Amino acid sequence: MKPETRRIWLSAPHMSGQEIKYIQEAITTNWVSPFGENIEAFEKKLARYLGVPHLLLTNTGTAAIHLALLSCGIGMGDEVIVPTLNFAGCVNPVLYQKAVPIFVDSEPLSWNIDPELTRQTVKERLKAGKPLKAIIAVDLFGIPARADELKAIADEYELYFIQDSADAIGSFYNGSHVGTLGDCGILSFNGNKTITTSAGGAIISHNGRLIEYCRYLSNQARSSSPYYLHEQTGYNYLMSNVLAGIGVAQMQVLPERVQARQNIYAEYKALLEGHPQISFHHDMEGAQSNRWLSTVLIEDAFAGQDARGLVYEKLNETGIESRPVWLPMHLQPAFKDFPIYGGGVAELLFDNGLCLPSSSTLSRDDVNEISNVIQKALT
Ligand SMILES: *Cc1c(COP(=O)(O)O)cnc(C)c1O
Repeated sequence: MKPETRRIWLSAPHMSGQEIKYIQEAITTNWVSPFGENIEAFEKKLARYLGVPHLLLTNTGTAAIHLALLSCGIGMGDEVIVPTLNFAGCVNPVLYQKAVPIFVDSEPLSWNIDPELTRQTVKERLKAGKPLKAIIAVDLFGIPARADELKAIADEYELYFIQDSADAIGSFYNGSHVGTLGDCGILSFNGNKTITTSAGGAIISHNGRLIEYCRYLSNQARSSSPYYLHEQTGYNYLMSNVLAGIGVAQMQVLPERVQARQNIYAEYKALLEGHPQISFHHDMEGAQSNRWLSTVLIEDAFAGQDARGLVYEKLNETGIESRPVWLPMHLQPAFKDFPIYGGGVAELLFDNGLCLPSSSTLSRDDVNEISNVIQKALT
């Protein structure tokens, strides 16, 4: 037999061991559709954790973003402000609605959407008579965006404020859970996130009617009637009761999982912060990140070095997965024709940013080993 070569993943799922019990229960009782006890238990636990009255579990985070747009009435030709430094899963639903993404640059400190530039963009679009309807803030890699400032802008100009907190369960902004501060927020339970249901998501709101509307749309927009009556286009977006069983078990270890990722970040910081080419992605005042992914900027020591590329390659050769920060949306072939405001900060972050392995399964020795490889690559 060939010896197993161990690989360190960027962000691996981390089961508690209790998941199988809830999955088993769903199968034994034959509740394998999107309804049943696991769904109810997961919804209740998550709502209690977040301190929100209403939420709906969905089959992906992307579906939850689509529902957020649908429930805010965003449709053909409407404009939606989104950060350009972003994951495509946040932007694609804007296009499902035939709406127009308006990309806005990051601020250098948090890497998230720049509130000042957002305000200028809002003014400019509205002055030009454009049908701007919403702002989506993303808590990139778990770092909270400046929700209070962004919400104030949304309120002032009567726009919807949506939080894509897919990365950020367990992150806080001014004492509140991210995702709970806008008209609605979304979470993801994809396999690479802090807790997972293998695939899954949630939409959260203080507005019960909004969530009930999402529930209706997610079940093929079925009206109550003995036969299937559909008065509008529906979707098949509900989470399965089998997968919700994974969620119930994951909720029991959520605080530990967040703490583990925060510890990993602290260890990287202790080992690497003194390096002249490396700088860390800090929390702003009032913000506390779950540290879903520990991210650093790696600057070139001399012109033309590509230090970030060097580190990425060395890690990869050693069996360690890392990932360059996301290519800004305005540079993606799929989205290049949409308006962009600024963009230089996001481009710089893309050029120099690297996401380091951050799985809650990593040991202190793993983090040591990874840090050593990084330091060696830069000597
Ligand atoms: C993961 C992610 C999503 C999409 O979530 P899925 O559950 O994978 O559909 C959306 N936005 C951001 C910022 C994400 O990181």
